[in-house]
Order: sequence, then C-alpha cells, then structure tokens
Amino acid sequence: SAKVLPYGVQLFHPALESRAVRRLGIAADLRTALDNGALDVYFQPKVTLTDRHLVGVECLARWQHPAQGEVSPEDFVAVAEHTGQLSRLTEVVLTQGLRRCREWADQERPLSIAVNLSVRTLLDSRFPDQVASLLEQYGVAPAQVTFEISEPGMLGDIERVLPTLYRLRDLGVRLSVDDFGTGASSLSYLRQWPVHEVKIDDSFVQGMATDTGDLAIVRAVISLAREFGLTVVAEGVESELTLDLLEEMGCEIGQGYLFSRPLPYERLEAWFSAQTEP
Ligand code: C2E
Ligand code: CA
Ligand code: CA
Ligand code: CA
Repeated sequence: SAKVLPYGVQLFHPALESRAVRRLGIAADLRTALDNGALDVYFQPKVTLTDRHLVGVECLARWQHPAQGEVSPEDFVAVAEHTGQLSRLTEVVLTQGLRRCREWADQERPLSIAVNLSVRTLLDSRFPDQVASLLEQYGVAPAQVTFEISEPGMLGDIERVLPTLYRLRDLGVRLSVDDFGTGASSLSYLRQWPVHEVKIDDSFVQGMATDTGDLAIVRAVISLAREFGLTVVAEGVESELTLDLLEEMGCEIGQGYLFSRPLPYERLEAWFSAQTEP
C-alpha cells in the first residue's frame, strides 16, 4: 500500500504504476481496434412508457480486448480521451449509428439514434462540421440524431462548451443532458442551456420505488422539464413498479433492462420483431 509521508507527500504507488502501464498497453490496442473496425456498437431501445413503442436507440460502444476480455466503456473512453483517440472513437460510433438510422429510414421505420459525447469533443471546434458532413453522407435528417452530454461534465466547462452546443443545435440535431441530477446543478440551468431533452440518471430512477428522496427528485425534474418543453427520458428502468410511477408522473420515454439490455444490431432487430409480431 502507499506510504504516506508527513505533509501529505505520497510515495510512488505500485498500483498506480500498473494502472498507467495497463492504460498505455491498451491505448495501442485501442488504436488497432479502431483501425480494424474491431470496436462494436450495441443499441439499447428507448421506448414510450405508455405503450412500449420503440422510438429510438442509444448507441453504446463495446470493446472486447483480445487478451483482457471486455473492457468497460468508461475505461476505454477515458483511455481514448487521454491518448488523442476520442474523435476517432466518436466517429466510429456515430458512423455506425447513422448507417443503421439510414437503413431504418429506408424501411419506413423512422427510429432516432442517440450518441454519447464527452465534453472534450465539445471543445473541438471542428466537431459540428464533421457532424454536418456525416449527416449529409448518410442522408440522415438531423432531427433523427440526439447527442447525450453528461451533466457533471457539462457544468465544469459550460462557458467553453456553449458555442459548440449552439452550433449543433443550429444544425438541427437534438441535445440531451445525460445523467441529470448527478451534477448538482440548479434546475434553473435547464432553461439556459440549448437542449431538447433531459435524461434522469439511473441512480434516482432505480431508487425511486423505495426512497422518497429519489422519488421527490424524479418528480421535480419531470415537472420542471415539462414546463420548459423538454422531453424527459428515464434511464435504468428495471421494474414494473418504477415504470408505473414514471408514467403517472408524466415521463414519456424510458430505457432500461425492463425493456431490453443494449443489444448487437441483429439481436435488436430480433427484439423488435418479437415486439411487433406477437
Ligand atoms: P450512459 O450514457 O449513462 O449509458 C447508460 C449505461 O447504463 C450503459 O452502460 C447501459 O448499459 C446501462 N444501463 C442501461 N439500462 C440499464 C438498467 O436498466 N440498469 C442498469 N443497472 N444499467 C443500465 P455502459 O454501456 O456500460 O456505458 C457506460 C457509460 O459509458 C455510458 O453511460 C456513457 O457515459 C459511456 N459511453 C458508452 N459508449 C460511449 C461512446 O460511444 N462515447 C462516449 N463518449 N461515452 C460512451
Ligand atoms: Ca447516455
Ligand atoms: Ca446516462
Ligand atoms: Ca447514469
């Protein structure tokens, strides 16, 4: 364990070394995976709470490391951020999402896609132009695409991030505040941000059936978001009880294991068929 010297000076910690070395190791492998198309994208259904009708999917990156097995997206996104590979990663996920979105549009199934963005991506002034050209390349209407940005990240850099948010909004894509409630921002911020949607964090959604505090937070977020004309999405819906409570409170859209886990494309299509052809 770490040796803590007086005055808080900490000696080199072997666990930190192995973590850093491991990061460097997987950074090179991540590059290879991105170059070889070995990064997967899974899709998790977003459904209307009243009738469980599929409205869109969240695109979630997955990476099976050749030696270490599945790496959590939080970990490899952090590696990508620290090793200059984030824009490649975002492009891979967005491109795969757009490809499917285009196919669905061709089949007269107008499903929207949601893609997660790191705040770092919003600090890149070229990003909106890249989005515009990809939308054109795939012939996808901007309104079919939502970018989810985590609230805690957004708060730290809101002044620098706002110009990009405005440019994205002007392109016609939708913007969603992800993990809402975890950033401890005042609810009144919602009115100042150029966003269309709020995603209530799964921690509150999972707690609301048993914890009156979580229930109060969820209720407050839903009523305020609706007052501001924002779409409300609940993430992490795992039980029928939670679904009923959310529906009663006027939440429109949900996502979670109760409906489906994130699925590879073929299994998503099978899930969809099972829903529509009983
Ligand atoms: P997130 O955006 O909050 O994504 C939702 C996470 O909750 C996903 O985890 C999903 O698998 C999980 N989840 C969905 N429904 C349920 C449920 O009912 N119960 C529980 N317990 N969990 C549920 P995942 O896929 O491990 O992603 C973790 C985070 O990694 C995401 O959180 C997102 O912040 C980040 N991430 C994933 N893909 C990307 C990406 O392409 N780009 C960026 N920048 N971040 C990504
Ligand atoms: Ca998300
Ligand atoms: Ca989330
Ligand atoms: Ca969350």
